[in-house]
Amino acid sequence: MKKVVIVTGGGRGIGAATSVLAAQRGYAVCVNYRSNEASANDVVSEIQQTGGKAISIQADVSVEADVERLFQTVDDQLGTLTALVNNAGILELQMKMEAMPLDRWQRIFNTNVFGSFLCTRAAVQRMSRSHGGQGGAIVNVSSLAAYTGSPFEYLDYAASKGALDTMTIGLAKEVAEEGIRVNAVRPGFIATTMHADGGEPNRIERVKAQVPMKRGGTPEEVANAILWLLSKEASFTTGTFIDVAGGR
Ligand code: NAP
Repeated sequence: MKKVVIVTGGGRGIGAATSVLAAQRGYAVCVNYRSNEASANDVVSEIQQTGGKAISIQADVSVEADVERLFQTVDDQLGTLTALVNNAGILELQMKMEAMPLDRWQRIFNTNVFGSFLCTRAAVQRMSRSHGGQGGAIVNVSSLAAYTGSPFEYLDYAASKGALDTMTIGLAKEVAEEGIRVNAVRPGFIATTMHADGGEPNRIERVKAQVPMKRGGTPEEVANAILWLLSKEASFTTGTFIDVAGGR
């Protein structure tokens, strides 16, 4: 069967590594991005140069109409969707919860939780056997923050990942008989530019001593776990989590 995957936030960091590896594993890849068109197109070029198939599509996953357009475009240009990676995620400047404004929590939940919900709903509508689909696999990119809670840094972000974890568990049970598997990865400290968004580009240098392996991880190490969860090798695995966190 032809394999088609949407990687949300696929133009940078973990999403870019996942897009490239998915293409190497034979997927036609939709590299979704919100605003950084150049980096998404770089990922598409890298895939195409090695003979793979990829397209980039701008869509803000927190906007319902954007998500509908994203999935419809993939239907039209790549064919039947078989996999979704809910990778798009944001955080904001490190601060204590007592200082956080409400609209910050709303922005974080809009992308990390509601965006994942909107994409997942669109995927399930296409994959479910009872809607005439052929099943599929969904991987949510959560975070170790879901159970550390990220005190003094970003409780809002950590709470959003906790919500994503709960959605993973419930949905896996709800759609198991539809032929859809739902799992998640929980990365630890991974070397991407996301830490700069929190105001500390070199955060991994500060925190790596907390990691039993004494280093941060790479986007490719997370991508490997995501691609395994999407693969047939994980055919009896659903509703579960892989921590990619160096033993933390
Ligand atoms: P990143 O380098 O900052 O990349 C984030 C990606 O998400 C970008 O491609 C961005 O698009 C996209 N994005 C953000 N908001 C979006 C929206 N509303 N709609 C569509 N795309 C959106 O981040 P990363 O470190 O690779 O993180 C990827 C995922 O891993 C996130 O869910 C994050 O929470 C999780 N994670 C990361 C770490 C870590 O240490 N890095 C640890 C645990 C979990 P543009 O390129 O257009 O801006």
